[in-house]
Amino acid sequence: MDFSHYSAEPVAVAVNLTNTFDVATGEDKLRTPGDVVAFIEAELGEWGDTPADLTDKDLRATRALRSRLREVWEAPTAEQAAAAINEILEAVSARPRISVHGDTPAHLHFEPESGDPVMDLGAVAAMGLSVALIEGGWDRFGTCSSAACDDVYIDVSKNRSRRHCSDTCTTRESVAAYRARKRAGG
Ligand SMILES: [Zn+2]
Ligand SMILES: [Zn+2]
Repeated sequence: MDFSHYSAEPVAVAVNLTNTFDVATGEDKLRTPGDVVAFIEAELGEWGDTPADLTDKDLRATRALRSRLREVWEAPTAEQAAAAINEILEAVSARPRISVHGDTPAHLHFEPESGDPVMDLGAVAAMGLSVALIEGGWDRFGTCSSAACDDVYIDVSKNRSRRHCSDTCTTRESVAAYRARKRAGG
């Protein structure tokens, strides 16, 4: 399936922010407030302004937001996933706005009212997951099935066949499976 351009970006923001913490290795890509600024600059595009700088408090808030995003993937049911998304929307005071700017078709923006960059980020990420759940369905929320990786993804394949977070993991796993077959003499 294809999310519209204006939904695909927020979905990617949610996935990429969640994956800045590598659960399998404990490696955190958001180590400093500057890392958060760089993430926002790289990921947010039209969805938010890049702040000049952020504080340690913003870094903690971003990491807390990231944990809440992962809880969406870890929810056992669609209903609980929706509740987890709603909690984020509530926490960032996200307000839905229909936006028609430039030549773009009308689309939703969920804008926080505070002007706070981390809440802004949370609003965009939660909007992405809302659209993914509403348009795609809960079974498109996946966690990488590689033993070496716990990164999350949203499966947009036609037959919902995706099992890994990335091509890197798919390749590593198929190489490992090939070697295992060879060892077994198959
Ligand atoms: Zn827009
Ligand atoms: Zn993976």
